[in-house]
This record gives sequence, structure tokens and C-alpha cells, in this order.
Amino acid sequence: AENVEHLNFQAEAKQLLRLMIHSLYSNKEIFLRELISNASDAADKLRFEGLSDTALYESDPDLKIRIAYDKEARTITISDNGIGMSRQEVIDNIGTIAKSGTREFIDSLTGDQARDANLIGQFGVGFYSAFIVADKVTLTTRRAGLTTEHGVRWESSGEGEYTLETVEKRDRGTEVVLHLREDEDELLSSFQLRSIIRKYSDHITLPIIMKKEVWDDESKAYKISDEEETVNQASAIWARPKNEITQEQYDEFYKHVAHDFEPPLAHVHARVEGKQEYIQLLYIPAHAPFDLFDREHRHGLKLYIKRVFIMDDAEKLLPGYLRFVRGIIDSNDLPLNVSREILQESKDIDSIRAGSVKKVLGLIEDLATSDKSEDQEKFKIFWREFGQVLKEGVAEDYSNRERIAKLLRFTSTHDEQEEQTVSLDDYIARMKPEQEKIYYITADGLKAAQSSPHLEIFRKKGIEVLLLHDRIDEWLTANLNEYAGKSLQSIAKGDLDLGKLEDEVEKQEHEKEAGDFQELTAKMKEVLGELVKDVRITYRLTESPACLVADTHDMSGNLGRLLKSAGQ
Ligand code: ADP
Ligand code: MG
Repeated sequence: AENVEHLNFQAEAKQLLRLMIHSLYSNKEIFLRELISNASDAADKLRFEGLSDTALYESDPDLKIRIAYDKEARTITISDNGIGMSRQEVIDNIGTIAKSGTREFIDSLTGDQARDANLIGQFGVGFYSAFIVADKVTLTTRRAGLTTEHGVRWESSGEGEYTLETVEKRDRGTEVVLHLREDEDELLSSFQLRSIIRKYSDHITLPIIMKKEVWDDESKAYKISDEEETVNQASAIWARPKNEITQEQYDEFYKHVAHDFEPPLAHVHARVEGKQEYIQLLYIPAHAPFDLFDREHRHGLKLYIKRVFIMDDAEKLLPGYLRFVRGIIDSNDLPLNVSREILQESKDIDSIRAGSVKKVLGLIEDLATSDKSEDQEKFKIFWREFGQVLKEGVAEDYSNRERIAKLLRFTSTHDEQEEQTVSLDDYIARMKPEQEKIYYITADGLKAAQSSPHLEIFRKKGIEVLLLHDRIDEWLTANLNEYAGKSLQSIAKGDLDLGKLEDEVEKQEHEKEAGDFQELTAKMKEVLGELVKDVRITYRLTESPACLVADTHDMSGNLGRLLKSAGQ
């Protein structure tokens, strides 16, 4: 037809699709989960926009998802009456695989199927999983609010090109038709489709509907009837009692809300009663997303009010340092017409947020203090993936500072291991009887920290020093002056006062020597001029002849370097 436009995917798309099909094939039935998940998201979006514009519902207010198959045509059809897409939205959302970083992403794939599948999942190729089982996909959609002649048909065989056509579409929403590949006929079965839906999509709150099949005596086979039935439970998983929810159901719900392929690390599910009534179902993912440190990073929880979806990414529900948490909050008290602006001001939201922070910190604490090795392993994964983000909390969340500080893990001179496993409590338990402070050094790498001359005297005296070498650590120590009544002391700053760790005889000797060398240090200071503030005799060193020290209130050498490299 003349109205058909041919367009190309971005250059990397073809390669990406091939890799994806290859690495996800062993788990191919997830295509249905992904398409149902999109249909459910589309319904959520309609609900959100419908809050301020009820006309979007047209005359079709009951949101649902339909799944059908056709044995003759060898197709499976997934349709929804959600928000739909305009022509431009189809081009932006469906015709685009390449996000920033696609090239790097493709290069990071190794051919290890499990690892690649996980990476691909994180990268988010949800819709394209249709091509695992289909060699042609036809998507027809009309955005809510547009008239029927503004339908759009997108079609592709996943080979790098797609076509776009303007069509008439009576019903609002999206219909995806999968033309199955040669060997996929087993999917053309009511039994198969239903069991896939129950396995992966039972938690979807919308009804997922299929036509009933009835036994036909004449042809001695099941026949598709006109009667419809709901295949999933279609009730909010979080509203069910905990003991009626299986681990698999929790995991599949997580995959849907988090757009993740991997199951989560841990979850907490609670019903809060009292002044505010709400349900929380919160998850900690098992891996950090690609864009955890990107300012644009999508974060926040899904907000429901009395089981009705209100909005995605309600970032007001959690502080920035917990932005990796995924899940939902379902409030019984907030008004249904709540908006992002209202949320900004709401005292109710403040208390829900404080409650959510408590729950998440509690969940992490449970992992950290558990004596089950399985939990300890999970805590290690948590720390590796999100420890750096959690550190932000020390500065961001004053009221929970001590709790967060308790969860921090560091490398230290105690075991010199690369993995950060030493807690402040571990450190304190190993402190010398006369020791009053928690000593640390910051550097821009573990090697640099370990080889710092400032450590010499501590090594000699057998005093443990924390080796802080993450970028955020300067920020952390600037905001954490004390823990459990012990002050944190940089060993690279100011006069090294070892307090009671230095014995009296040593001290007197040192003072005398400082006097003896006064002439020399004065001379050196004169020669170095502007370059230094002072020259002093030191006992920090046992092997190196000299070292640079920052003044107590000056920024450390490492922070100075960081700011310089950031162009400050
Ligand atoms: P994700 O769901 O993680 O955003 P997908 O590849 O699954 O990634 O989908 C890409 C985008 O395409 C969605 O974000 C959405 O904007 C759009 N989309 C996909 N399916 C539908 C649908 N059924 N209705 C409306 N929009 C859809
Ligand atoms: Mg999706």
C-alpha cells in the first residue's frame, strides 16, 4: 500500500536481536510474560492519565488483557485496552532499541548464556522477546483520546527494518500478533498458554482473558467457544495473606514491577495499621541497574490507593539512597485524586516514607546479622551492588545515620582483603584497650591506601586502620564524625595524636627531639616557602623519610585530587 512507510532500526538492532534470541531461547516462554507486562503497564498509564481526564476511557472502562491463538494462521494475539500509542510513540518506543550505551552493552556480552540473558534483561528488551518465538510481529495500536482513524500498524520480522502504516482502529489500546516461527507449534494450545500465564503472570491485577474451549463430540476435539474466562487470579498479590503467596509468585511480581529478568535478593511484605493504613511490598534487586548513578535514573515505587494503580516511580516514597528498591505501596488513606504535586507536600506521604525506610533498613539488617550462610551471602551481594549508594544515606538521612553506619562495610589493614567486609562494630571490637578513635585513611584506590606512608606507625603498633577508597568515601567521612561514641580520625590529617596509644617515655623523647630539630625544620620551611604550611618532625613514619599531611580542617589530599580532576 502507498501509505506504508519503511523505516530502519538503529544499526546495532539486528545484532542485538540475534544475540537476544540466542541467549533467551532456553527460556522462551517469557515472551508472553513480557507482552502481558507491557499490556498491564499500558493499563496503569491509562489509569494515571484518566485521573485527570476521564474521557480517555471512551465507553470502555473495564481494563483487561486478552490472549487468543489461531491454529490455522499459526498466530498468538495479545491485546489490551490500555493507553495505546501514537505514531510518534510507536517510533520512539518500539522502533528504537538503541538507548545510550547500546554499543558498549553489546560489547559486554560474552556468549555465556546465563550471564548474557541477565544482562539483556537489565538492558530491557522486553517487547523484542516476541522475536524469540515469532518471525514476524504485527502491532496495531491507537492511543486513548485519538480518533479511530489515528490507528498505527507496526510490522517487522526483526531483521533491522520495520514498516509503519496508518490504519483505522476502533478499539483503544494495543494488539500484538505473533506469527510463530517454524518449530513453535506447541504454543498453539490453550493448555500451554494458560499454564504459561499462570506461571508468570498470575500476579497481574487486570483480568487476563481467554476464550473457553469446549469438547466437540462431532469432531472429537476441543473447540474454541465464544464464552470468555479469566485465566489469572487477577487480584493484587500484596493484598493476599503472606502464607498464600509462593516464592515464585513474589519473584514474578518483582520481575514485572522492576522490569528485571532476575529474581530479587530479598523482599519485605507488611501491612501497616494505625494512624496511616497501608501495605508495603518492597524488594531489593540482586544486581544494580546500568544507570544507578545516572541522575535520570528511574526510581521510586509504584503507588496504589485501595488497590487502584495511581502512579509509577513515585520518588517521594523513598529517599535517594534507597533508589535501588523496587515494589509497591498501597495506601488506604490517600485521596484517589492525588497528584505528584500533592505528594510533594503530603504529611501522610512523609510518614509512609519513614515507614518504608525503616522496613528496608530492617530487611538489610536481617541479612547482615543472620547466622544463615545463605543470608550472609545475600548481604555480600547487597553490599557489592548497592553499598556505595547506601553510603549516601549517612549524609542524606540524619535520623537513621547510626543505623546506616552500622551496615557499612570497609576494607581494613586487619585482613587486607579487597572485599569490603569489616563493619565499624568489628573494628571497635578489635580496638586496643587504650585506643579511643576509629582510624581511617582515604585514597583513590585500594593499592594507594595500602601503600600510604601514613600507615607505617599504625602497622608498627598493630593498630587497625580502615582503608577507604571509594569515590563517595570523602563525602562519607565528612558526614560521619563519630560512631558508637568513638570519633573517626583520618590518619593523614593534622598532628598525629595517638592519645594513650603513645607511651609517656616515647612522648617525652619526641618532644625533646622536636626541640633539637627546630632549626632544621625552620630552615626547610623557609626553603619550601609557599608550597607548605609547616614542616614538622613526625613519628608517623618508620621507613619513609617524609610525607605530606593535610591540616585538621583542610580538605584531605585525596579530596583535593578529586576536586581537581572534576575541574574545580
Ligand atoms: P519496558 O516495558 O521495560 O519499558 P519494553 O521493551 O517491554 O520495555 O517496551 C518498550 C515500550 O514500548 C514501553 O515502555 C511502552 O512505552 C511501549 N509499549 C510496549 N507495549 C505496549 C502496549 N501494549 N501498550 C502501550 N505501550 C506499549
Ligand atoms: Mg516491558
